[in-house]
Amino acid sequence: MTRRLPQLIAGEFAPSATEQWIPVTDPATQEVLCEAPAATESELARAISSAQLAFESWREVPVSERARLMMRYQALLKERHEEIAKVLARETGKTFDDAKGDVWRGIEVVEQAANVPSLMMGETAENGARNIDTHSWIQPIGVCAGITPFNFPAMIPLWMFPLAIACGNTFVLKPSEQDPMTPNLLAELFLEAGAPPDLLQVVHGGKAQVDPRLVNPDIRAVSFVGSVAVGQHVYRTATDHLKRAQCFAGAKNHMVVMPDADPRQVVNALVGSACGAAGQRCMAISVAVFVGSARDCLESLTAAFAELRPGAWDDPEAAYGPQISPQAKARILDLIAKGKAEGATCRLDGSDCQVEGLPDGNWVGPTLFTDVTPEMSIYREEIFGPVLCCVCVDTLDEAIALVNASPYGNGTSIFTASGAAARRYQHRVEVGQVGVNVPIPVPLPFFSFTGWKGSFYGDQHAYGKQAVRFYTETKTVTSRWFDEEAMAGPNLSIQLK
Ligand code: NAD
Repeated sequence: MTRRLPQLIAGEFAPSATEQWIPVTDPATQEVLCEAPAATESELARAISSAQLAFESWREVPVSERARLMMRYQALLKERHEEIAKVLARETGKTFDDAKGDVWRGIEVVEQAANVPSLMMGETAENGARNIDTHSWIQPIGVCAGITPFNFPAMIPLWMFPLAIACGNTFVLKPSEQDPMTPNLLAELFLEAGAPPDLLQVVHGGKAQVDPRLVNPDIRAVSFVGSVAVGQHVYRTATDHLKRAQCFAGAKNHMVVMPDADPRQVVNALVGSACGAAGQRCMAISVAVFVGSARDCLESLTAAFAELRPGAWDDPEAAYGPQISPQAKARILDLIAKGKAEGATCRLDGSDCQVEGLPDGNWVGPTLFTDVTPEMSIYREEIFGPVLCCVCVDTLDEAIALVNASPYGNGTSIFTASGAAARRYQHRVEVGQVGVNVPIPVPLPFFSFTGWKGSFYGDQHAYGKQAVRFYTETKTVTSRWFDEEAMAGPNLSIQLK
């Protein structure tokens, strides 16, 4: 019988009482790896009230002890890195190296969560007004909820619950129903690292299991990562119910190539950033903008794309894995067909890709379009596959105008040998994460993940200082201690000095 994934509720991993089970498949073979529950309403309610109860005691635990839990957790994650990556690779189809990278980027955020004592320090001012001292404290807010996408089942849950919990909160996670085994393993390891068992609750499912969290009065903050349409829905509903929300959404990332860029570096960067993880990264480069004679590298770029071969997670020769589902593949093929119908030149078409011995995998071969214009569907829509659209312009300013006209603003990069061009680009471009000769500029965890415009709804971003602000409140205390000399009569107006 197919294994049924348990949920972590009220401190225990236990089977769900639901009658609805969601198959989790190996995207290279369609083999059913396990089934995830679509949690019942009462299971979700029990998880939220258990998290609420746990908050009352966890908020009293000293911050240094909370930091020590994160130190133990990051050490355990490092020890079990390969084991987690194997589970992740099976259910996502990512190559083993890429799966290890997914886990590693999450471990780095846990390391940063161990810095929580200094991140939660407030401010003080002595004698801010006569005989008055002021200090601020940073305090946790309560139960936080996280809803995560399929494409980084280790990194993105680890963006959320470790820092929220390190700040003194408790957390209810709903992982993607497409790859929930990795988040369950992360939760098991969290308990093994010594976390009190009811700080983190993992309650599985799909849309039906998301909406009740957005309206439940015990949930104070919602972190969401996923597609634009769902991100907008989550943001609107959560804020309508007076919760804090941070929603990281879809993207269309441009890489601008200047004529003075090193063509070998450009080709390597575009191949890796457009096709790595089968193009299923929110920071993937999906549009290359060639300025002037930079377009001369198109021949070698097409040749380099043509050499890429997808394959199974444990095939060391595979450049990348399958798409996550047959539906995701069908959507990509539909967009490729639209690109051709709308007049783009398809220099390389990955629609009919086959991988020997794995006839049922969701394969899409590397695909490269030129003569793409901003009106075309392949330019406007997030394809989320190994498909690169190439656009040619004459000047850097034209490139900047093109990028700024995009409704998205997650990531962008410029390849150039000119400091002046790089400076102009980073200053003028309306995108939250900019790389200079770095194709995928994901900030390290002591910064924050700062997408802009239609790629992000909210105020405070993921990890780093901004996430600490998101998961906490500031309390400001104004105090005065009377001594005989400072005694005065009542004061009925605002003090001026
Ligand atoms: P998705 O929006 O389909 O799903 C994300 C989560 O929302 C899942 O947990 C899913 O169960 C839930 N969900 C799905 N439909 C819902 C609905 N109608 N109502 C409520 N909840 C719903 O996204 P996905 O396909 O899992 O992930 C890929 C998307 O995520 C891409 O658009 C990608 O760009 C985006 N993404 C963005 C970032 C970022 O930081 N900006 C990072 C990773 C992924």
